[in-house]
Amino acid sequence: MKRTLRRRVGLVVAALLLVLVVVAAVGLSDVNVPETSRFDADLGAIRALAVSTGAPLPTGLRSQHVSRASGVPHALVVAGAGFGEVAFDFYATVVTHEHFDHCAGIAHSASLDEVASRVHLTDEQLRSPLAEEAGFTAELRARFTPLQYERLHLLRPGVVLIKAPGHTPGTQLVYVRLADGREFLLVGDVAWHQDNIRLPRMHPRLTHWIGGEDAQAMAHQLQWLHDLLRTAPELHPVVAHDGAQMQDYLRRGLILDGLL
Ligand SMILES: [Zn+2]
Repeated sequence: MKRTLRRRVGLVVAALLLVLVVVAAVGLSDVNVPETSRFDADLGAIRALAVSTGAPLPTGLRSQHVSRASGVPHALVVAGAGFGEVAFDFYATVVTHEHFDHCAGIAHSASLDEVASRVHLTDEQLRSPLAEEAGFTAELRARFTPLQYERLHLLRPGVVLIKAPGHTPGTQLVYVRLADGREFLLVGDVAWHQDNIRLPRMHPRLTHWIGGEDAQAMAHQLQWLHDLLRTAPELHPVVAHDGAQMQDYLRRGLILDGLL
């Protein structure tokens, strides 16, 4: 009798271990990036819209380093990248999406009255439950006029917003063209590291599950970004949390350090 019980317990433990191994293996694998992107964004149209008013373009792009989180497992950032650690850097730029690490600084700002009129949050960002988590209470959300647009929106001469839901419902890319012709594409968290775009390879399924992301939408966006490296090498992608890439841009004088 005891032996039968022991055998049953052993079988249950073995089955649970097997389930754990399968979940871990699937979780650390990545969704394939398709060879042809269906992400509907035309760089020609974006470039044309950026200069459509004929008004002067911005003269520089500035970045403000906010904080750094070290010890993020590399395998959660680029699938199959091993178990080393990478640092996650946080920069203040245009709001690409409604995650707390990108916009909570606005909700908790001591100068909110001053900045509120200059903050542009889209309808999707304000309606997302993630905005609530970032500190945008119903009362606070009521103070902002939601920005509504379809695919592309000219925010300022030289600055075009490109709708790209996937990482979050309110994710958008930000195209910037400066007066001297330099071009940037702020990709937010569609990629967490420039390797995601370069390879191209997504972060693993586990990260999609935790973040509630639309992996298929992100895969097509990533392939679009990957194609741009070849078709528009003069366009500099800016990956929100990639400190090494930002350091490189700062060193080369492409982006200026610190807000004015
Ligand atoms: Zn995010």
